[in-house]
Amino acid sequence: MLAAQVLHLKYKFSSAIVFLAEHFQPLVATSFFAALAELVIVENLNIRTPFPTLLSLSSRLGLHTHVCLMTRQHGYSCVQLECTIFSLADAQTRPWGIEIPGQCPQCGSISAWKKASLTNGPGVVKYAYSCQFSQCGTEQRLDPYKVIITKPPGVLVNAARTSSCGWFQSPSSFFAELSPPSKGKRKTGALIGSSAPKKARKGR
Ligand SMILES: [Zn+2]
Repeated sequence: MLAAQVLHLKYKFSSAIVFLAEHFQPLVATSFFAALAELVIVENLNIRTPFPTLLSLSSRLGLHTHVCLMTRQHGYSCVQLECTIFSLADAQTRPWGIEIPGQCPQCGSISAWKKASLTNGPGVVKYAYSCQFSQCGTEQRLDPYKVIITKPPGVLVNAARTSSCGWFQSPSSFFAELSPPSKGKRKTGALIGSSAPKKARKGR
């Protein structure tokens, strides 16, 4: 059965979901799978339509893993694989799906970061997080540690519960269909466009 599914995924699948956690725990996705079965398998909806809503049913899922949705898209001349990554986003701890350190790397403090928007309004494109420990950097004669997060390409999906917390959808990557092997060589899919959340960078 598993082998059949693998073969189906390898050669002729219509969609697939990849959980990017290194040690994925399926228990956190129970609500997600139940709603997925109802809307996609029973009601036969296009999986891309209800997908953000399905993700929002389980906040624990987003705390555990990023999720990649892969679907086949029929273009004019070929079939493409569309891959879209969804990440849980929270303005205080995971802006736009990018995790900020739980501990200050300079002083070791586990106090919450002090957040400040570097641009105001709904079009915020950058956040600065400062260590709140009053002695941070004193021994090293440095400024308090600061992390700056710049908004990557993408949007908070409509199913987001608040303006600052929800699922962040990165722009899709498209891969052309694999060509059949010829003369012992195997061609690989062509990357047309790509994006994914980047890691936080240090700033001062
Ligand atoms: Zn610190």
